[in-house]
Amino acid sequence: MAKQANSGDLEINPSSLLSVLQDLHSKYKSLQEGAVANYIPELAKVNPDLFSICIVTVDGQVYEVGDYQQLFTIQSISKVFAYGLALEDHGRDYVLTRVGVEPTGDAFNSIILDEQSKRPYNPMVNAGAIATTSLIKGTGATERLNRVLDMFHRYTGHDVFVDISVFTSERSTGHRNRAMAHLMLNFGMIDQNIEQALDLYFQQCAVIVNCHDLAVMAATLANKGVNPITGKRAVDHQYIKDILSVMYTCGMYNFAGEWAYTVGIPAKSGVCGGILAVVPNQMGIGVFSPPLDARGNSVRGVEVCKELSQQLCLHMFACGGGSSKIESGE
Ligand code: GLU
Repeated sequence: MAKQANSGDLEINPSSLLSVLQDLHSKYKSLQEGAVANYIPELAKVNPDLFSICIVTVDGQVYEVGDYQQLFTIQSISKVFAYGLALEDHGRDYVLTRVGVEPTGDAFNSIILDEQSKRPYNPMVNAGAIATTSLIKGTGATERLNRVLDMFHRYTGHDVFVDISVFTSERSTGHRNRAMAHLMLNFGMIDQNIEQALDLYFQQCAVIVNCHDLAVMAATLANKGVNPITGKRAVDHQYIKDILSVMYTCGMYNFAGEWAYTVGIPAKSGVCGGILAVVPNQMGIGVFSPPLDARGNSVRGVEVCKELSQQLCLHMFACGGGSSKIESGE
């Protein structure tokens, strides 16, 4: 078990951390609540028993249990990274004219815009994410997609691909997202070709990753934008605060407030059943388990993160503000 060195400063032995993950995995693998997402027909085919937990520290140590190599589509977790790219392309001030930073308290797919500004509320809900993705620069659809794939390469450290079946499945059924895009076009919040913006959004959601990748991507954000495995920069350091702030306030659908209160770290979940969580300057956490609760968050994922936060004292406003330290080496 992790040992409390003194109040507000937790020293974690590496072999203990692996056994913490193993204990959590065996404790929650029998939890049978929730249902896999089925509104995108292709997602309904996933095995609900898949379950993995992975931690990558900012100095590149990796701890993982379960099906951490199992591939799945990243879905909404992609919104975090597309937001970073839009910020790099246009700067904070311009992006703020197109998408706000206010939590909605509503479902991820609500068709709502801010009454006064007509902006979507934030980049972590679908409307805001579609507006964000429409900002990604490129001379045509292929160049824009390649820029998104290159971005994921920097965060994961390897080439990534789009799952064509999931992409086409969502493209042919994503009528709510299409309705949101038209609403935003009406208010001038999107100005490029709507079908191109939607295609790129559906493609970024269909990017294939595994749980290990989620933890590496999270660790890159924890490490001020530098991938701790490759040593290469994935995103401009100045935008880490913007990305983590919207994750903290808006990243967990309409559970974001309760998550901030109980778990207390920036995170983003997706209807794939993934959760990516960031402990700034410490580690990235990835959890994958497809069955979702009523708000769209992975049931096992939420429980695991609650316990990890408690056991490792990760809450930003407890234990000295996430001052847990993992000793390097075994
Ligand atoms: N591609 C999904 C959609 O737009 C992502 C939803 C999610 O993971 O929250 O509906």
